[in-house]
Amino acid sequence: MILRTTEHFNQIGKKRIPSKCPDCGNQDCLELNFYQSSIESGFLITVSKKVTGMLFCHHTKTEIAPVLWTDDIENRFENEKSKLPIKPKSTKVIKSSLVLFLAPLLIIGAIIGYLMWQNKSNADPTESIENTSIGDKIKVNYAGSDTWLLINAIDGDTLFLKPHKNSTTEEGSNVDLDNSNFTGETIKASLQHFSERKFQRYEGEYLNYSGFIKDVKKQE
Ligand SMILES: [Zn+2]
Repeated sequence: MILRTTEHFNQIGKKRIPSKCPDCGNQDCLELNFYQSSIESGFLITVSKKVTGMLFCHHTKTEIAPVLWTDDIENRFENEKSKLPIKPKSTKVIKSSLVLFLAPLLIIGAIIGYLMWQNKSNADPTESIENTSIGDKIKVNYAGSDTWLLINAIDGDTLFLKPHKNSTTEEGSNVDLDNSNFTGETIKASLQHFSERKFQRYEGEYLNYSGFIKDVKKQE
């Protein structure tokens, strides 16, 4: 990050002085202006005790360069300066820049929060899978497509499932999970593999059909 440093001059006072103008020679045409400087760097602003003066001639409407100041003008400058309410040296954080600095952090935080929330709403169904019972419906992905199955019976390690009549479903589509829609031919799967979120289907006596459990809908 590039930190920009800017010096600001804040006027803290002005005073007409009766000294003779070193430029035009007139009396009562001079005005001293006092500025206290502050330095802005990055998110910080430092008020320095440095006070600078500017001499202005109202007659010629010009600034009188400090090299032209007479001793009388110098003395009046120092004298007036000592009476001014000079702010003590201080450093503070610029609020507006803090907002600019924090805004991206807040946005990033919000994105992380959202992703975490989204992740939580796609919560790992392992717990529901481990407590599988008759009447639950499971969404299984195998052979590249999703299928809803209704658990009809459990016997030892064997699950008996009825597939949904729409054997494959589009991602995100609404499937009517009413029990009456599970009309497919009963298939068997291993309960033991459920805790690993694996859908291991029995083909006859052998396990050879493998898929992945994506979702579980507990019986209401
Ligand atoms: Zn003048």
